[in-house]
Amino acid sequence: MNDEFDPNDMVEQNSLDGYLKIDKYNPEKIKRLSDAYELILREIGENPLREGLLKTPERVAKSLQFLTHGYDMNPEQMLLSAKFREDYQQMVIVKDIEIYSLCEHHMLPFFGKAHVAYIPDKHIVGISKIPRVVDAYARRLQVQERLTTQIRDCIEETLKPLGVAVVIEAHHLCMQMRGIQKQNSVTTTSAFTGEFENDRTRSEFISLIGKRYI
Ligand SMILES: [Zn+2]
Repeated sequence: MNDEFDPNDMVEQNSLDGYLKIDKYNPEKIKRLSDAYELILREIGENPLREGLLKTPERVAKSLQFLTHGYDMNPEQMLLSAKFREDYQQMVIVKDIEIYSLCEHHMLPFFGKAHVAYIPDKHIVGISKIPRVVDAYARRLQVQERLTTQIRDCIEETLKPLGVAVVIEAHHLCMQMRGIQKQNSVTTTSAFTGEFENDRTRSEFISLIGKRYI
């Protein structure tokens, strides 16, 4: 989140159980969003002036700005800045990366796990960058299918590896809270390039992530 720090932004920090949370906000944007949320509260039949709701528009505005901070990030640049030359040519897997995103149709959360693998060809990347790339795309309005292919394409284009695999398993609150109300359904999407298009390599990856949905 600090990749493109704007000095005009406000920074709030609080340390909770050793976890440092840094949120940055743009005050003008927060004001416009808060005004819009105040209108929404009125439209649903609430009174935005009652005590419990007084600070709600501002809280929701800050929350939305945090939940969509991926628009301010440049995932390709993140990978390029941590790309190293290395002769390793075995599969590198980062599994169980938590994702929290918002579906672009209802702006309701979808959340679950992403599993990402690549087979390097002369270049590797600092391993912590993979979850950051996942987050940079997830923290936007998304559909799960596009999230999956954007992560794949970003790794493919910046590292030019022998292959990339991305699997995402997620619960969609727009399905669970409304619509068809399927409480426990999991949506799985996958995207592969290069050597992962070969059955043997793909099966090895799928058995290593230990999932049976695919
Ligand atoms: Zn939806």
